[in-house]
Amino acid sequence: MRYSVVTLLAQSLGGHKGWTPVWRNPAPKAEYDVIIIGGGGHGLATAHYLASRHGISNVAVLEKGYLGSGNAGRNTTIIRSNYLLPGNTPFYEFSMKLWEGLEQDLNYNAMVSQRGVLNLCHTDAQRDAYARRGNAMRLAGVDAELLDRSEVRSMLPFLEFDNARFPIQGGLLQRRGGTARHDAVVWGFARAADGRGVDLIQNCEVTGITVQGGRAVGVETSRGAIRAKKVAMAVAGNSSRVAAMAGLRLPIESHVLQAFVSEGLKPLIDCVMTFGAGHFYISQSDKGGLVFGGNIDGYNSYAQRGNLPVVEDVMESAMAVWPGLGRLRMLRHWGGIMDMSMDGSPIMDLTPVEGLYLNSGWCYGGFKATPASGFCFAHLIATGQPHPVAAAYRLDRFATGRLIDERGNGAQPNLH
Ligand SMILES: Cc1cc2nc3c(=O)[nH]c(=O)nc-3n(C[C@H](O)[C@H](O)[C@H](O)COP(=O)(O)OP(=O)(O)OC[C@H]3O[C@@H](n4cnc5c(N)ncnc54)[C@H](O)[C@@H]3O)c2cc1C
Repeated sequence: MRYSVVTLLAQSLGGHKGWTPVWRNPAPKAEYDVIIIGGGGHGLATAHYLASRHGISNVAVLEKGYLGSGNAGRNTTIIRSNYLLPGNTPFYEFSMKLWEGLEQDLNYNAMVSQRGVLNLCHTDAQRDAYARRGNAMRLAGVDAELLDRSEVRSMLPFLEFDNARFPIQGGLLQRRGGTARHDAVVWGFARAADGRGVDLIQNCEVTGITVQGGRAVGVETSRGAIRAKKVAMAVAGNSSRVAAMAGLRLPIESHVLQAFVSEGLKPLIDCVMTFGAGHFYISQSDKGGLVFGGNIDGYNSYAQRGNLPVVEDVMESAMAVWPGLGRLRMLRHWGGIMDMSMDGSPIMDLTPVEGLYLNSGWCYGGFKATPASGFCFAHLIATGQPHPVAAAYRLDRFATGRLIDERGNGAQPNLH
């Protein structure tokens, strides 16, 4: 069923009784051309682009829970392409361009909202760093504006400008950045892939990867063995565990990242704002809740729930930059498992096991990458060659030293 104004009118005249399920619920077949492990945004986007751009639709996406039950349904929905390094900038800008046409491509309202992403700066050195990043972005064809203190004040007058410890000196604004409704992104990619014949198989946990003669030939699952010509991993925070099934040890640590949403308020903040003197960022959802988060929990974990020290840390940062938030009532908070790579940048590559493909290392920034990740991973699976904008995301860079250390903080996930 194609969604349009005409469909909506026809359905409303018929009492909305004719809507069909958004995707099928098929039983797994014995064999596929491609199996994608992980029904998050990246796995589903990969399936969509495999089918729509490469004509490969004998594909199954295997998801151990329900589609979007991982980070895709837990993130704070920010999209942006304000990266500094050559390995990252073209990829994230490509993703931003895909976001800009995504709803037409998928025929689905993903609520993409280019409301602007503003990074605050609080010292001269930080302003210099933002000027450098903004200039690098503009040279690469990405929009960026350096704002002074009064320009920031006119956008966000309620912030704490005169805090002696963290005075706001200005900010770097990417107007084309913003948010997208995370669940809708999952549902849109799922519907589009299903519509082209991809089998989306939920409640199907991969428990083993079958390797014969150095080649991946299928998977063991909670719903039986399935054979495949190619097996692709897109399991985010579970990357180390799933890769270990094929004998691989990844340069990935899994950490929890927490997020928070407040009670619904009237429109208050119309952009995404990040605090530059601590780890805190905030935006407002279309329902009115303030959505915010901060740093990862410091220890390794596979639990999708966080701990209190980070809650305190995030609230301290919130109060430092926006004291009015102290009167806010919180609705809920939650956690997701981040696949933290050792340089803060993703990995998208072939593996030493033939026919086994890896998509991982998205850290806490993989939602914005969803369309480009799927596009480029599909390209890699279909052609065996990296897509030009993702060519730097090689697995062997951790051995060769050609790291893409976006924040310059080295192999310390909590500093990325
Ligand atoms: C609190 C929070 C806030 C975030 N905020 C942002 C943000 O604002 N902007 C941004 O760009 N990024 C953000 N991120 C990061 C982003 O959500 C992730 O990087 C991205 O979603 C990862 O890709 P994915 O969607 O494919 O992962 P997931 O949705 O986690 O998909 C992986 C899937 O694999 C499944 N799986 C795992 N093991 C198996 C198995 N053995 N068999 C079958 N299936 C398996 C999981 O159940 C899961 O559904 C945030 C993350 C969190 C948790």
